[in-house]
Amino acid sequence: MAKKVEYNQGKCIGNGNCVASAPYYFQLNENGSKAILKNSKGKDSIFISTIEKSKLNDVIEAAKQCPVNAIRVYDDETDEDIVSVNIKKDKVEEIKAEYNDLKEFVMDKKGYFLIRVNKEKQRVEVAHCSEINKIDVMVYGTNPLEIYMTIIKKDLIENMGHAAYLGREIQKACTALKHNLEYVQDDELKINHL
Ligand code: SF4
Repeated sequence: MAKKVEYNQGKCIGNGNCVASAPYYFQLNENGSKAILKNSKGKDSIFISTIEKSKLNDVIEAAKQCPVNAIRVYDDETDEDIVSVNIKKDKVEEIKAEYNDLKEFVMDKKGYFLIRVNKEKQRVEVAHCSEINKIDVMVYGTNPLEIYMTIIKKDLIENMGHAAYLGREIQKACTALKHNLEYVQDDELKINHL
């Protein structure tokens, strides 16, 4: 009886546990944001592959180690799960998101960022100011992950709220660059025509 693995790429957050457990079946994509199920067939983010007997335990381990339950191992004849991995949801504390920027905003001791889309050079530019109106470093790129991780590696940011803000703004700027939209830092993107 063939055992199969079904991988839902839409759920994947790219932490790579499956690659470590079953490298014969999984690898990360070019920018490391998602896993790829090798030699698989699929559509709409769902990919399926037949598992070699000698690799079954590795793929089961990959399914167990996936933090978002994106990997299912099942029997092809009965469609029954071989390993059942469910995200535990009991006793979840639900917290309504609340934040008052005027009252709770804390300035990052390491400075602030000016973000713009350079259409001529087809890149997003993130300038760091350690003092008011004084740019000391500029990081550029087209991939949000690469840009904000470079900023973190260069130790240009300290405050977690600031890091979250920066990630959001860089993602918006990269989306604007990709779709030829206007980007204004802190403004919402106008994406009606997308
Ligand atoms: S373990 Fe799950 S979330 Fe992590 S890369 Fe693999 S499929 Fe994606």
